[in-house]
Amino acid sequence: MATMRVVQVSRPSGSFEIVERQIPEPGAGAVRIKVEACGICHSDSITKEGLFPGIQYPRVPGHEVAGVIDAVGPGVPGWEPGQRVGVGWNGGYCGYCDHCRRGAFFACVRGQTTGVTYDGGYGEYMIAPASAVALMPADLPPAEAAPLMCAGVTTFNALRNSGARPGDVVAVLGLGGLGHLALQYAAKMGFRTVGIARGKDKEPLARQLGASVYIDSQAQDPSAELLKLGGAKVILATATSGEAMSAVQGGVAVNGTLLIVGAAESMQVSALSLLLGCRSVKGWYSGTSIDSEDTLAFSVRTGVRPMNETYPLERVSEGYDHMMSGKARFRVVLTIGH
Ligand SMILES: [Zn+2]
Ligand SMILES: [Zn+2]
Repeated sequence: MATMRVVQVSRPSGSFEIVERQIPEPGAGAVRIKVEACGICHSDSITKEGLFPGIQYPRVPGHEVAGVIDAVGPGVPGWEPGQRVGVGWNGGYCGYCDHCRRGAFFACVRGQTTGVTYDGGYGEYMIAPASAVALMPADLPPAEAAPLMCAGVTTFNALRNSGARPGDVVAVLGLGGLGHLALQYAAKMGFRTVGIARGKDKEPLARQLGASVYIDSQAQDPSAELLKLGGAKVILATATSGEAMSAVQGGVAVNGTLLIVGAAESMQVSALSLLLGCRSVKGWYSGTSIDSEDTLAFSVRTGVRPMNETYPLERVSEGYDHMMSGKARFRVVLTIGH
């Protein structure tokens, strides 16, 4: 029987174990993917540390998957072996619950999460429901595609659904794993792109990624600086600090939105500022497989790429620790040889 190597976690807060398993067969409605690369994301700590209730162990983490379909289960129209595909955080949806019937597939009551409710991409093969699979353009290397399946689709999809139009001032708060992609997308979408981060040293990179204005939040008041530009139609908050979000809120334009994709615990909001300017504070969750597909295609067409540090599967612990340290520039990706 053919076997594969996967990285599993056997219990909450357990260490990564590289084990041999039988290569699984795809069931009805699912495909098997030969994994070529998988991003190591901060959200993988949910599986590693058991932060969601009900995770079944052992579990293989990984929701930033890039690979090739190598087997297709019964009842899967439209997919075939040999297609290059990705799988992201959204691990599939049922298509028939009330949310799905209203088109809100992300809120599916039977929704799955890749690498959390089923085994993800830290391994040589994985099984995914067809509804979780995104087609990957031929000329996108797998290690570059992988982070686009999470950080990429989150920022791309948030920006394109933000209500901002070409020419509008759009600010990106934070210059990390999400922010370095958000700046590129905002610039390529035709927004007047503003980068906000801590320290003067980040300015050259912010400008290189597409920011036409840079605000150093340590030396300047970001809200006041944004108001000098007429206010931001959208501020995409990618930082995970509630304080940093509160500090920019005063820079949202009339009818503008503070759009949150960074998972801060809480933040201060001025109710007066919201009601006087018809302003909104809104969250954005990420995207489903078709959003990922659009993200990959847009990225290839416009030259948006993540900045990655890559590790082979065998060095998964090192890669994960590096990601958790916050020192990675900017995404960490496992490369998987066969
Ligand atoms: Zn992720
Ligand atoms: Zn559903």
